[in-house]
Amino acid sequence: MGLPSDIWNSPQVLEALSGNALLPGSHPSASVYSGHQFGQWAGQLGDGRAISLGEINTPVGVQDIQLKGAGPTPYSRRGDGRAVLRSSIREFLASEAMHGLGIATTRALCVTGSPTPVYREERETAAVVTRLAASFIRFGHFEHFGSTGQTQELKALADHVVQAHFPSLEHLQDAARYTALLQEVTRRTAELMAQWQAVGFCHGVMNTDNMSVLGLTLDYGPFQFMDGFDPGHICNHSDSSGRYAYSRQPQVAYWNLFCLGQALMPLIDAQEPALAALETYKTLFPHALDQRMRAKLGLTDAHVGDRELVETLLQAMQQDRVDFTVMWRRLSQAVYESSHSTHAFEPVRDLFLHREVFDAWRIQYEARLGEADRRSVGLRMLQTNPKYIFRNHLGELAIQQAKTGDFGMVQSLLTVLQQPFDEHPAHQAWSNLAPEWASSIEISCSS
Ligand code: AMP
Ligand code: MG
Repeated sequence: MGLPSDIWNSPQVLEALSGNALLPGSHPSASVYSGHQFGQWAGQLGDGRAISLGEINTPVGVQDIQLKGAGPTPYSRRGDGRAVLRSSIREFLASEAMHGLGIATTRALCVTGSPTPVYREERETAAVVTRLAASFIRFGHFEHFGSTGQTQELKALADHVVQAHFPSLEHLQDAARYTALLQEVTRRTAELMAQWQAVGFCHGVMNTDNMSVLGLTLDYGPFQFMDGFDPGHICNHSDSSGRYAYSRQPQVAYWNLFCLGQALMPLIDAQEPALAALETYKTLFPHALDQRMRAKLGLTDAHVGDRELVETLLQAMQQDRVDFTVMWRRLSQAVYESSHSTHAFEPVRDLFLHREVFDAWRIQYEARLGEADRRSVGLRMLQTNPKYIFRNHLGELAIQQAKTGDFGMVQSLLTVLQQPFDEHPAHQAWSNLAPEWASSIEISCSS
């Protein structure tokens, strides 16, 4: 974050970042928001366990520092305002992994463990995640003032977001400004969904109160980076209907954008411009996804048959539950090595049960690559398809160790996940296929 590297030696800073003392000038706050959860209007929610300490200037711009799990707020409802060590380590590592992958996300500065007991399904211990973002404003903040009819507050919030985060829209007035705001959030959300789909990330709880107006990945709960490719994969054990299954995420984001649009209606006045802004999602998302998937294949220009080429590969992967990350990485390596080896594709082929399906696809793919220099295409792919991904079982192992007071694996995972496209020979095993027991890990909303 560009903060001084000796910041951790300051007892005052440690106290502040763990929520035990205030830094000078800090005015802590929790904010109110409402939202739709699992497709239903849930009414008022709010920061039940997040407390903003205030904003700091950093080389990457102004950042809001938030403590998650530091205790009750006026919006805690029946909750205890706490977070458990398990989910805090998951959020900490996942947000840094996302950033390492080049995907827009809130960041995490540190996790502080505590012996304080916290009761979920069983007794656990408390922790605080200290997280940062240019803004933690959610669709739900707009839905709140939209639903209560507080149009002045709604306008103030929208103007704040425009002024602080979308200055290029500031010259617009009235309805035009808020329509442009909706359009910009739509654009960022479409881009984010393409990024999630392209790395096999499942969020798990895409409620509107977990959607960032800046298009950041926000609120890491029962998320999962997919192992074997399954479009219907549901990572949240509490999501029995599969509303937030992997393949549904882009559609759910669109639905959520409609909730935001609805909330902004008092400022936009007419339906047509709002609908037109939302409608752009239908072209922005597929375009962004096509671009990402082409990049995964090492293609720099668009051809007519590209989508089909991607679809055929994904269908073959689905049929054989081929590991998403390993497949793309081995394919990248294979293209690179095919410049000098005739057996380069064997390690990819070995991942498929239906080898003839892969062979047929490979012929099409190589024809599409044409005369392109395999070495440079492969190198590009190795910078696009990560070797290391934050798999559930890696998180589990790190958490088990952390529960004994040893944060060694959390620290090493952090280092590896911050550079997921590089080779880390000492941690080669973390790039392997998930072990058998990984499929029995159940992650619920409880955190
Ligand atoms: P989530 O599903 O984690 O996004 O949380 C949904 C809502 O419940 C948010 O408003 C949270 O602030 C609130 N919440 C979740 N866990 C707690 C807790 N332990 N204490 C207070 N509020 C909570
Ligand atoms: Mg949330």
